[in-house]
Amino acid sequence: MPGRAGGPGLPQDVRRRDGAQRGHTVVVEAVLDALPSPTLLLDAEGRVLLANSAWQAAAELYGDDRLAIGIGGDYFGLARQLTDDPGSLRVLDRLRSLSRGERELVSFDYAFATTAGIRWFHLQASRVDRAGQIVVTHTDITSRVTAERASAWQARHDHLTELPNRAHLHELIDTELRRPDQPSVTVLFLDVDGFKDVNDSLGHEVGDDLLRQLAARLSSRTRAEDTVGRLGGDEFVVLGRDCDAVGAAALAARCQSTFDEPFQLAGRSARLTASIGIATASAADVAGLRSTDLVGDADLAMYAAKSAGRNRVRVFSPELRTAVRQKALVATELRGAIEAGDLVLHYQPVLHLPTGAVTGVEALVRWQHPERGLLPPADFVPVAEQNGLIAPLTRWVLAEAARQAAEWERIGLDLIVGVNISAAHLATGTLLADVTDALTTAGLVPERLLLELTETCVAEDPERAAEQFAALRISGVEVSIDDFGSGFSSLSQLVSMPAGILKIDRELVAAPVHRRSQSAAAVAAVVGLAQACGMRSLAEGVETAEQLALATELGCTYAQGFHIARPMPAADLERWMGGLRSRRAHPLVVAGVG
Ligand code: C2E
Ligand code: MG
Ligand code: MG
Repeated sequence: MPGRAGGPGLPQDVRRRDGAQRGHTVVVEAVLDALPSPTLLLDAEGRVLLANSAWQAAAELYGDDRLAIGIGGDYFGLARQLTDDPGSLRVLDRLRSLSRGERELVSFDYAFATTAGIRWFHLQASRVDRAGQIVVTHTDITSRVTAERASAWQARHDHLTELPNRAHLHELIDTELRRPDQPSVTVLFLDVDGFKDVNDSLGHEVGDDLLRQLAARLSSRTRAEDTVGRLGGDEFVVLGRDCDAVGAAALAARCQSTFDEPFQLAGRSARLTASIGIATASAADVAGLRSTDLVGDADLAMYAAKSAGRNRVRVFSPELRTAVRQKALVATELRGAIEAGDLVLHYQPVLHLPTGAVTGVEALVRWQHPERGLLPPADFVPVAEQNGLIAPLTRWVLAEAARQAAEWERIGLDLIVGVNISAAHLATGTLLADVTDALTTAGLVPERLLLELTETCVAEDPERAAEQFAALRISGVEVSIDDFGSGFSSLSQLVSMPAGILKIDRELVAAPVHRRSQSAAAVAAVVGLAQACGMRSLAEGVETAEQLALATELGCTYAQGFHIARPMPAADLERWMGGLRSRRAHPLVVAGVG
C-alpha cells in the first residue's frame, strides 16, 4: 500500500479530507500501487504526498537508505543527490517549471550507483493538477541500457581481436586531433609482410590465430595512453597520444620488436616481419586535419616501407603524397595518350659485328606529352605496368613497329625490329595472340620481329617464360634476354631458356677504367656462356670506340649503343641508313676495329 499522507507539516489540502476527496485519494493510491516502477506523488515544493509500494521497497532492493524517504520527505533534495551529475540542478529547474505548469513533461535517464553496481533509471514526471502536484515514476532500464551498450561496443570493436575497429579508431583519432591542449598525435600503420602467404598456405583459421596473437602482443608493448586498433585484414593502427616524432620512432621500434619472437602457428614456429608507416601531426598542423588524412598518410608511408623491401619503418613526408598523386595523374593521362596515339617509337640501330652491317633496330617507346615534352619510358612504362595499361601499350608498340618494319621492307630496308615486353604482359597469357595480330595486320613475316624480355622478368617465372618463348620461336619470332648481368637469374634457368640472343647489360660493357680488365673477363664469360647455350650475344650500351673494339674482339655477334647511333625517329633512321649505304661500310666499325 502507498504511504498515507497525513503526518504533521503536510499541506492543508492534503490533511483536510472530506468524503469525496478521500475517495479520490484512495483511487490515486490504488493506481500508483498498480505501477511496477517506484512512483511518488509530490506537492509543488517537492515534498512526498504519496509513495507507492514499489518506492517503499526500493530502499531495501537497491541497498540505499537515501531512498527511504517517506511522506513529507524532500524529494527535490533527494533527486539532486541521486542523479548526481552537473545536469541535476537543471533537472530540479525542470521539475519546478513542470509544477508551475510551464512544461508538459520531464523525462530523462540517469545512472544510479547501488551496492550491486550501476543501475540505469528512466525518470518521467507529469503535472497532476493546478495546485502543482506532480507524479514521478522511476523505471529501471538497466537491462535495456546494458544491451544497447553491448551492441554499441560490438559496433565499435573488431570481433576477432576485440580491438577498436576502423570506424571507432577514426572517432578516437578525430577526438584526439580536436583536443585543444593536444601537443602532437602520431598514427602508426602496421602491415604484416607476407600475411597472404600464411593464409594461403596454412588456412584462414591459422591466419586468424596469428592476428589474435599479434593484437595481444601489440597491446602489451604499447603505452597505456596509446590505442591499438585493427583496420581490417592484417592492417593494424596504433594511435600514439602526446607522441611527437621522437616518441613515434620509439613506438615504431616497440611495435617492430613484437616480431622478434617467432609466432606459434599450427604447432610450428614461424618468423614474420612487418612494414610500418608513421604519420605525426604536431599542434601546428592539426587545424582542419581529419583522422582519414593522418591514417592515409601513415598508409602511404607503410606502402613506401613495403616497396623499399619490407621489414622497414618509413616516416610520411609530403613528397610521398605528391608522388602518388602524380602517378595517378600520369596513369589517367597515359590511358588517353595510348588511345589518342600520342606515343612515338624511336629506333636504335643494331650492328652485326662480323659483317659491319646494320641488321636490325630496337624500337623504344616515348610519349609525346603536350606539356612535358618527349618523355622517356622510365617516366611512364612502370606506371603502365602498375595500372593495367601495359598490354594496351605493348599492343600499340607491336602494331606500330610491325607496320614500320613492313614499310621499310617495301622500300628495300631489311631490318629486324626488336620490341621490349614487360613481365606483366607475359603474365596475361595474351602475348602470342597479340604478336600474331600485329604481324597479320602489318603483313610482316615473323622472322622480322624480335621480342626482348629482361633477365629479371624471365627469373620471375622461368617456366612460364620458357613456355611462351618456345611458342613464339616456333611461330618464327626471335626472342632475346635483355639486360643480362643486371639481375640474378641462375645458370640453370638460362641454359633451359629457349632464347636466341643474349643482350649483355651496359653496366658490364661500360665498366669504369679501374675495372676494365674484370669487365672484359666478365663480358668474355657471358659471350662464352651464350655460345655454349647456342645463343648469339649482343653488347648493349657501347659508348666508345674502345668498347666497340672489345666487343668485336671478344666475339660478340652484335653491338648497340650511343657510339654507333642514338635512338631516333623512323625518318631520321632512313636518312642515317642512307648515309651508311653511300659510304658502303660502317665508318664506326672501321674506326672501332681499325
Ligand atoms: P632497354 O631495352 O635495355 O633499352 C636500351 C636503353 O638503353 C634505351 O633507353 C636506350 O636509349 C639506352 N641506350 C642505348 N645505348 C646506350 C648507350 O650507349 N649508353 C646509355 N647510357 N644508354 C644507352 P630508353 O629508351 O630510355 O629505354 C629504357 C628502357 O625502357 C628499355 O631498356 C626498356 O627496358 C624499356 N622500354 C623501352 N621501350 C619499351 C616498350 O615499348 N615496352 C616496354 N615494356 N619497355 C620499354
Ligand atoms: Mg631492350
Ligand atoms: Mg637492355
